Amino acid sequence: MSDDKTIFEQIVDGEIPSFTVYEDETTYAFLDANPLAPGHTLVIPKHPYERLNDMPADEAGDVFGVISELAPAVEAAVGADASTVAVNNGEEAGQEVPHVHWHIIPRFADDSVGPIHRLFDGADLDDDEMEEIAAEIRANR
Ligand code: AMP
Repeated sequence: MSDDKTIFEQIVDGEIPSFTVYEDETTYAFLDANPLAPGHTLVIPKHPYERLNDMPADEAGDVFGVISELAPAVEAAVGADASTVAVNNGEEAGQEVPHVHWHIIPRFADDSVGPIHRLFDGADLDDDEMEEIAAEIRANR
């Protein structure tokens, strides 16, 4: 029932066309249909995990292995100087397609976009607050 599938599952299954750049047993990569820069590539697990949080660590490792190989290839293909590799992990973080995906976005010295840090106002935390948060993260892992 293709209605139940995410748009990215439909791409993996060949029901929707894509400009494929890589495929193996667990991972698929294709050009973003609305590129933020030439060569903007999406890398996904074939299994439709909604968020990174839902992925088993070994499958996340497989996908990230592909990302580490593809990022230089994407840069080389379009003559980019660098790339931004990012995941909008959850709706509140801007995720629109509920099938986890990494963006590889080629970056150019003159693109004037700046770092991801520009998206945030920053949080003013003292050392006690930092240690409390670090301890919570360790406990929740
Ligand atoms: P996000 O906002 O992180 O969920 O990103 C979703 C991305 O998927 C956007 O950059 C869209 O341009 C891209 N996208 C949506 N539909 C397609 C499609 N059929 N083929 C390729 N990319 C797509």
